[in-house]
Amino acid sequence: CGIVGYIGGKDATPIILNGLRKLEYRGYDSAGIAVLDGDNKIELRRDAGKLDNLCNLVNREPISGNVGIGHTRWATHGEPSARNAHPHIGSTGRVVVVHNGIVENYQELQDELAAEGVEFNSDTDTETIVHLIERYITITGNLEEAVRKTLQQIRGAHGIVVLSADEPDKIIAARIGNAGGVVIGYGENEMFVASDIPAILEQTRKMSFLESRQMAVVTRKGVTVQTLDGKPITPAIQTINWDP
Ligand code: GLU
Repeated sequence: CGIVGYIGGKDATPIILNGLRKLEYRGYDSAGIAVLDGDNKIELRRDAGKLDNLCNLVNREPISGNVGIGHTRWATHGEPSARNAHPHIGSTGRVVVVHNGIVENYQELQDELAAEGVEFNSDTDTETIVHLIERYITITGNLEEAVRKTLQQIRGAHGIVVLSADEPDKIIAARIGNAGGVVIGYGENEMFVASDIPAILEQTRKMSFLESRQMAVVTRKGVTVQTLDGKPITPAIQTINWDP
């Protein structure tokens, strides 16, 4: 439902939690955050219910790092619970995904992955995405290529943001169809991603927007956008003049 991501020089956790707060009006049933810590390890915190539950959890078990992604979930597949909340982490513990939308062919993909020996830790359609990405990282050795191949396999409409501990200087965001938007926010040596403008409006007013079947590789310095077929796109940066 709501997505916020950060890559820069500041502590990602408060920026992401604050961004998720701005998206609360959209409704949700659980929330989570993943941050890449100083040792390049992914730290994950998730809880059912209100964002306050997640904030309390993060207060009890703090996480900090300069790169991270967060999500407020509106469950479509699997009950609202901590284990079904996003981000979903892969079997290696090195890749995390947040997702808006529905993987329409998740059952088929789940069967295929289970036959390959993949163990599932949630009841969501989303978890298939992170396992597919890991499968294609093993095959191609490249996160971008792995995300692209995964997006070509899942049916339905999606907004997706991916973080890998093995490529810690980037966040990958993509959009297929109309499961909400994907907004890129531009800062000084820091960049933001979100499902919606209000999430990052306190941080920057310079934003660009992904269209369907576009994928963005976001680093601290900027963003490169391509179609899922590999055609380069020059994003149109706009200045948003609303009051936050
Ligand atoms: N289909 C996913 C789930 O149920 C994503 C839900 C959402 O868009 O928040 O976990």
